[in-house]
Amino acid sequence: MKKLIPVFYLIMALAIISCGSNPYAKTNRLHKKQAKAYGKQLQQFPTPENQKESALNYGDYWVGTTNFNLRKPNYVVIHHTAQDSLGQTLTTFTLPRTQVSSHYVIAKNGEIFHMLNDYYRAWHGGIGKWGNNTDLNSSSLGIEIDNNGKEEFTDLQINSLIELLKEIKEKYSIPDENFIGHSDIAPSRKVDPNANFPWKRLAEEGFGLWYDEAEVENLKLEAEFFKPNPLAINLNSRLNTRIPFIDKLVFPEVIPADFNVENALKIIGFNTSDLEAAKSAFKLHFIQEDLNQPFGKHDLKVLYQLHKKYL
Ligand SMILES: [Zn+2]
Repeated sequence: MKKLIPVFYLIMALAIISCGSNPYAKTNRLHKKQAKAYGKQLQQFPTPENQKESALNYGDYWVGTTNFNLRKPNYVVIHHTAQDSLGQTLTTFTLPRTQVSSHYVIAKNGEIFHMLNDYYRAWHGGIGKWGNNTDLNSSSLGIEIDNNGKEEFTDLQINSLIELLKEIKEKYSIPDENFIGHSDIAPSRKVDPNANFPWKRLAEEGFGLWYDEAEVENLKLEAEFFKPNPLAINLNSRLNTRIPFIDKLVFPEVIPADFNVENALKIIGFNTSDLEAAKSAFKLHFIQEDLNQPFGKHDLKVLYQLHKKYL
């Protein structure tokens, strides 16, 4: 009998370990229950019986088409979690009272937690707008990257993210320019992902757009282009001859004096109802430095070059 006692404990321990191997078993049951309820909703047919309450002039009988499938996501919105640990984020997304979630969470070691079927609507975007789209949650996948909001993203995270994006992009045919950040769609509320996020590298892989650096170098503001020639001023200050500013063999492209920053931001997709917030969001995504400085010449040139890619 004495020999049996350790065996009994061993069996008990194994049972506890196997039952407890997924610490989210309880909330997973809640998830499945909700998914089942939404499944039922999808199976409701628009029959005349169901339409009795409506004042609309429906036909006498129901004709269900045989040709359909599920709606697909067409945007990807990237976030940083702004939390201190992966565990904290997973807990936040499994507590009903928080009312926030995302489809994917990427851990610092590159592990991906796929928390919600892509065809469901996660609650990651909140109030936001991109172009004329005012319900990004309905048309996007949300990807949260474990990051406290200030730190660098790990290489493992970015590599995993890129692999995930490749899969998503191909599966749902998402256009390059529809890979955006939370701050892009909610400029006055959000600053994620932070300025360490490698948007340029992502754009090189086909996720999001980036400006052409050589073309930006070659841009001149109209005021710069027609600046007075110092030699001419010295020789004949009264005439103050104005000649074109030429310092390269390549003729510079001139940004017209009436170039409209607000319209260019709108063309890219930003909501400009708070113009200063939209400018800051643009800088966070495409400039990523001197974020506290006012919108300067370089920012203007990048905006000018970039907005043409969205025309
Ligand atoms: Zn976010």
